[in-house]
Amino acid sequence: MTVTWATYEAGYFDRSEAYVAGAAVLDHEIAPRAGWSAVVRAGHVLTLVDVGGNQSGDCLIYDAVDHEERYSAQATIAAQRNAYLVEGSVLLSDEGRALMTVVGNEVERQDTIGGACSKESNTLRYGHHTMFHHACRENFLLEGARHGLGPRDLVSNINWFMNVPVEADGTLGIVDGMSAPGKRVALRAERDVLVIISNCPQVNNPCNDFNPTPLRAIVTDPEGRA
Ligand SMILES: [Zn+2]
Repeated sequence: MTVTWATYEAGYFDRSEAYVAGAAVLDHEIAPRAGWSAVVRAGHVLTLVDVGGNQSGDCLIYDAVDHEERYSAQATIAAQRNAYLVEGSVLLSDEGRALMTVVGNEVERQDTIGGACSKESNTLRYGHHTMFHHACRENFLLEGARHGLGPRDLVSNINWFMNVPVEADGTLGIVDGMSAPGKRVALRAERDVLVIISNCPQVNNPCNDFNPTPLRAIVTDPEGRA
């Protein structure tokens, strides 16, 4: 990947490879606290790398053409009868159709219940002084605006590499992650999809180990010439 000054300074020299080999389509470092988006073509595989470890990658997925059809946490959980995303999970749209499939996963538990941080929820949970902390909702709005999306288009999201255990009494915890530097998750696009990632800026709870670090997005074409 391109080693930026921020990555170099932080001491991260990520040598991970795409989970599914193929021709390289793109390879991008998502800086700490930043957003990123791209259209992933049908059949291509997006590998996300948790470069520094325990870094939440908040994620929304839309049909690349019809943005009205978008990821549904509810449909996905109900269909697979599992609260966590695991290898083999099919990420369904609000119309019950496949957007992407988890074809590789190196973290036991991937969350799609915990939601995204926002300055509003930060204020409620952590106090008024956090009002001006940058948050995932702002990243989603900034990246979404590049594709014509607005606040009405934000739905329940996925939190790659974030540990949100569902306790015996049904409550949710946001606790230390189960991920580690270089851990990956790989998603095959089942049609052309728009993927938006917020490299979570949260520093008020342990979801990013109180230290936001880079993520890396690699897209490969398994059918192409490597
Ligand atoms: Zn966040």
